[in-house]
Amino acid sequence: MTTILPRRDVVIVGFGWTGAIVAEQLTQEGLDVLALERGHWRDTSTDYAVNNAQDEVRYRYRDELFEDLSRETLTFRNQSNQEALPMRMLGSFLPGTNVGGSGVHWNGQTWRFLPTDFQARSHNEERYGADAIDEELTIQDWGVTYEELEPHYDTFDKLCGIAGQAGNLGGEIQQGGNPFEGPRSSPYPNPPMDMVAAPLRFADAARELGYQPFPGPSANMSRAYTNPLGVSLAPCSYCGFCEKYACGNYSKATAATTILPALMRRENFTLKTGAMVLRVETRGGRATGVTYVTPEGDEFFQPADMVFLCAYITHNVNLLMQSGIGEIYDPRTGEGQVGRNYAYQTMSGANVFYDDDFSVNPFVGAGALGQCIDEFNGDNFDHEGLGFIGGGYIAQWQTNGRPIEHHPVPSDTPTFGLGWKQAVRANYNHTIGIGAHGASHSRRGNHLDLDPTYRDAYGRPLMRLTFDFSRNDIAMSAYLTDRVEEIARAMGGNRVDVSPLKVPYDIKPYQTTHNTGGHIMGDSPDNSVTNKFNQSWDVSNLFLMGAGNFPQNPGYNPTGTVAALAYHSLAEIRRSYLQNPGPLVQA
Ligand SMILES: Cc1cc2nc3c(=O)[nH]c(=O)nc-3n(C[C@H](O)[C@H](O)[C@H](O)COP(=O)(O)OP(=O)(O)OC[C@H]3O[C@@H](n4cnc5c(N)ncnc54)[C@H](O)[C@@H]3O)c2cc1C
Ligand code: SF4
Repeated sequence: MTTILPRRDVVIVGFGWTGAIVAEQLTQEGLDVLALERGHWRDTSTDYAVNNAQDEVRYRYRDELFEDLSRETLTFRNQSNQEALPMRMLGSFLPGTNVGGSGVHWNGQTWRFLPTDFQARSHNEERYGADAIDEELTIQDWGVTYEELEPHYDTFDKLCGIAGQAGNLGGEIQQGGNPFEGPRSSPYPNPPMDMVAAPLRFADAARELGYQPFPGPSANMSRAYTNPLGVSLAPCSYCGFCEKYACGNYSKATAATTILPALMRRENFTLKTGAMVLRVETRGGRATGVTYVTPEGDEFFQPADMVFLCAYITHNVNLLMQSGIGEIYDPRTGEGQVGRNYAYQTMSGANVFYDDDFSVNPFVGAGALGQCIDEFNGDNFDHEGLGFIGGGYIAQWQTNGRPIEHHPVPSDTPTFGLGWKQAVRANYNHTIGIGAHGASHSRRGNHLDLDPTYRDAYGRPLMRLTFDFSRNDIAMSAYLTDRVEEIARAMGGNRVDVSPLKVPYDIKPYQTTHNTGGHIMGDSPDNSVTNKFNQSWDVSNLFLMGAGNFPQNPGYNPTGTVAALAYHSLAEIRRSYLQNPGPLVQA
């Protein structure tokens, strides 16, 4: 039996970065806002105290912060003619559960996309001709511009207290920053983090080769900071437990450390945990609310005037499919938009090994402590004759020296036993890893749909992921990896081991939690699921937040843009929709 609850103005599904942003903005309008989070209540001081947050076995290897695949997972295959099998262990990506979502255990590398990234098709066609875009690619323009998003990037920078060095202030190129970035309306709210040996060594080598290195934009605090919501964060202690862990030191900007303390004081906000949303209910082209189930198995219908899906891309897309909203994409016909243009990230790198006389001290690190170059990202370089479009940034991030996870060894080392132990001992403190973080261009065959065979614990079909890297991305990544190797060889070690992109895509080893697409945005219902304000074309009181809106994935980490898109959408909702509910863009 389903219990029907009293109506709310707004229901939010999922309380990670985007759920918190939506709640904070709409409670300001006096609306009655309810957030439903499938996981547990978690707060920094009580749950992630500094004396337990750094437990590698508990958090990294027993997955305490990550989603529970015994309840719901997806099936995976590389190509449509293969049989998909359920993902039974987390590997390639690590989506979060509980209050704060994946943002609790993110690194904090907080980028803005390049202005031309938002015109991926039209810009490349204009500069290189239509033939330069491989016919298998389904990339498209976003329907929104960097200029429209800039004020919202700025809001997120200030919410988080991002540490960095501006490279372009109002069109004026700034010394020491990223000269390729789009114009900023204001500098970073905090100075760059203090650099340690490894990123400094990378920056010196990059400079010698003629590049312009700059400090990576970081949501790890370079100094004490109080954000515009009045919430204070402490200076980072460089403990090296950001990525895959919560920060017990209140030094990493997350939804829980920047928004939640202010939000919990607002009487018109309610957060309900242990609420697993199964479906969005619709009638006559409008969302009437959502149905959720508790861990005890009790089912509720929560009516609401507006529904926001903030459940991470895979779950947003899954909820659309389970609710019968929109047509599921079929790669054979090209019909349907839901599940189309799933994309990921292309990662490659190199390890530089040194003699005993150069100590890296890798345990002095932070999730976004690093130096980067952007010469080979997006369209920052001439692609004429290269046979691909797009690119990525190259960086040395000094994230950690965690004892179980971090053991760089030369590639010809035995994988266990005495030889392995000796190599770990010899190299732990004398190795620097650098990497290329590349774009992923959506291609015709990559998509999400429903699996015909497997079901989740709630009896729903599992979502099925079909993905492999495009020809473009393989060529692009090879080019980037060559540049990585050149820099690695200039870093003065005694040996360099290169790790190219692994093809075909393997879902087992960790790469990034930068999944994108599936409910992409665009300028028409014929090419997208949402309009430029992330409003469903089909159901105008349904909004979809997160990287599922990306038509393809540029060469940066996504969350800065995820947040900017959310603020952009909410600004229009507050300006226009609340007075006059309905489509914000006419189809
Ligand atoms: C290890 C790691 C490192 C990362 N580092 C970076 C980085 O350095 N830079 C960067 O830009 N990005 C990084 N990311 C990505 C970043 O964490 C995400 O982009 C961001 O958290 C996405 O926000 P979101 O609101 O879309 O989803 P999330 O933050 O994942 O929140 C989604 C929430 O929805 C809940 N939920 C899901 N389904 C349901 C349902 N059916 N009912 C109720 N609740 C539901 C989940 O439990 C979760 O709490 C990293 C991610 C990981 C895992
Ligand atoms: S490195 Fe800094 S931001 Fe990261 S977990 Fe440690 S104290 Fe927190």
